Order: sequence, then structure tokens, then C-alpha cells
Amino acid sequence: MIYVKNCFSEVIFLNTQYICEMNGNFRTETDVFFSEKCSFRVGGKIGLCVFPSNEEELIYAVKKAEEYGEKYIVLGNMTNILPSDDTYDGTVIVTSEMQKMRFDGNFVFAEAGAPLTRLSLLSARQGLSGLEFAYGIPGSLGGAVYMNAGAYGGCMADVLTSVTAYDPKSGVVSDYTADECKFGYRNSRFRHSGEIILSARFELKRGNADEIISECEKNMSARREKQPLDKPSAGSTFRRPTGYYAGALIEASGFKGMRCGGAQVSEKHAGFIINAENASSADIAEIIERIKNKVYKDSGVMLEEEIIYIK
Ligand SMILES: Cc1cc2nc3c(=O)[nH]c(=O)nc-3n(C[C@H](O)[C@H](O)[C@H](O)COP(=O)(O)OP(=O)(O)OC[C@H]3O[C@@H](n4cnc5c(N)ncnc54)[C@H](O)[C@@H]3O)c2cc1C
Repeated sequence: MIYVKNCFSEVIFLNTQYICEMNGNFRTETDVFFSEKCSFRVGGKIGLCVFPSNEEELIYAVKKAEEYGEKYIVLGNMTNILPSDDTYDGTVIVTSEMQKMRFDGNFVFAEAGAPLTRLSLLSARQGLSGLEFAYGIPGSLGGAVYMNAGAYGGCMADVLTSVTAYDPKSGVVSDYTADECKFGYRNSRFRHSGEIILSARFELKRGNADEIISECEKNMSARREKQPLDKPSAGSTFRRPTGYYAGALIEASGFKGMRCGGAQVSEKHAGFIINAENASSADIAEIIERIKNKVYKDSGVMLEEEIIYIK
């Protein structure tokens, strides 16, 4: 598919030949801002957004960026990132148009861009249990594998059987078993290897569809009750420190409801920083630093960000 939207003169920091190749092979967008795309609703202009529609196109997009020496990052639904206010002078390769899913008995295949909540719901409707925890997590499958996303006692590692990934350094596509993915708490091999997640397979358990759907809805209700879903955020800002809850430590240090510019520590759940009113990325970064310093002083616990900074 050829889709050319941009005017070259707008894109001054990328190689023109490179942009031509990308425009010729993918749907692309320029003149677009992270603040329009990411769940925090902050962040500067993006040099070029590219939307591959299948695994081969994703590999091709990465190969081309590497070949031209362009800066790039692969993102899914952008629900776990804090992009800088500055222009991102590179390519954001977005997997949101790679949403193929296949169900075969108890096995499920999905491409990296498949929305996690949709995957969970479609599995539930087929009477497949195991992804109830993921219902309401607003990310893509790729982002969820990368983060080993989890909630309500479950996580991706519990249900994944294998992940297919592309290594831009070697140019090799590999299938990794769940063990080889080296999952840990909000951690996986992909956070360190630089490999690009193309797709994944799950094994789920047979169950009663109505009961599975009802479990999904129960999880969603708990989210609505406890989380500030009416305001832009990236979910829990911090990782859970061993033996503590980040939200409780933040609240104990007196930060609940505290504002910094347009950013605020949620009144509803102190573990969430929200974009209360036209926050900048710098506002959010500043509130994070203040929290880390004070919580460390008060409790001796050094909080670590769960969100990922994009510069
Ligand atoms: C309201 C709200 C509630 C949330 N609740 C939860 C929760 O309960 N549990 C939880 O774990 N998280 C939660 N999150 C955080 C987030 O939704 C998850 O971490 C999700 O898995 C991120 O997926 P994404 O597609 O948005 O990733 P992105 O934010 O797009 O990317 C996150 C990271 O993954 C990398 N990445 C994405 N796709 C690929 C790929 N194909 N190959 C290689 N790297 C890739 C990116 O480079 C980036 O470093 C919540 C967020 C919000 C806003």
C-alpha cells in the first residue's frame, strides 16, 4: 500500500531518500505529536511515524531505519511511556496496525500490535481462560510482552508459550520459549536485548465463557473503582518495591493530590501520576523526582520508575 501524507519540507531532520522509501512502503504520518498519541497526553513532535501492517513490514521498517542510521523506536499503544517535550528526531514505528489473531483449540496466536484487552475478551468469548488479568490493561501485546505486564495475580509469563522476535543487530528472527524470554517482575529479555517482538503464542485453559467474561468484568470494575481512569496517565508510575506498595509510600510522604504544573499525584490512587491539566512532560518528570527523593528520605525505599522515558 502506498500512502503519502507528508510534505518533505516539514521533515528536516531525516534523510529524504529514507522518507521516500518509508512513504512508498507504509502508511506514514508527520507533523504529529506524542501528546496526541500517548496515554499521558504529553510529549513533543515526532519526526516520522510509520505503521507497518504485518510482521514482514515491521522487520523491513526496522531494517531501513538501521540501514540509513536513523534513530528509531518500536512502540505499541504508548500507554507506558513518558516522552520528552522536545522533538523526537527519529522514526516511531507503531505496531497498532498489526492486530492479527488466530484461535486454534486452546492455542492463540497474535501479532505484536494486538490490543491486550481485545485479546482477553475474544479469548473469554471462546471459553478460553488465562487472560482475564489482562482485561483493562490498555497496551498492545508487544508492549505487554516487553514489560511482562500483569494485574490481579496474573502476568504474561503465566500464559505465553513462545514469542517470535527480530534482532536488528544480527538480522535473525528467533522463536523463544517462555523460559528463554527470561520473564521477571515487569521484566523480560526484550528490555535488555533490543530485539523487536513480532508476535506471540499462548496456551489457555478451557472454561465456561460466561464465568470467564464475568471475571474480566470484575477486574474492570476494580480498575474503575480504584484507578483515575478519567485522567491521562501511564498507569502505575513506579514499580512495586519488594515488601511495600509504591502508592502507600507516596501517600505516607504526603504527596497524594500534590501538583507540579499540570501534573498531579492522583487523589484516587497515589501510585498514579496524572496529567490533570495541560501538563508538560517536564512537569511529570519533576513530580517523579520529588517523590523519589522524599520517599527515600522518609522510608529508605528508592522507588524505580515503571514508565519508560523516551528522549
Ligand atoms: C490506565 C492504565 C492502566 C494500566 N494498568 C496496567 C496494569 O494493570 N498492569 C501493567 O502491567 N501495566 C499497566 N499499564 C501500563 C501499560 O498499559 C502496560 O505496560 C502495557 O503492556 C504497555 O503496552 P504498550 O503497547 O502501550 O507499550 P508502549 O507504551 O507502546 O511501549 C512500552 C515499551 O515496550 C516497548 N515495545 C512495545 N512494543 C514493542 C515491540 N513490538 N517490540 C519491542 N519492544 C516493544 C517500547 O519500545 C517501550 O519501551 C497501564 C497503563 C494505563 C494507562
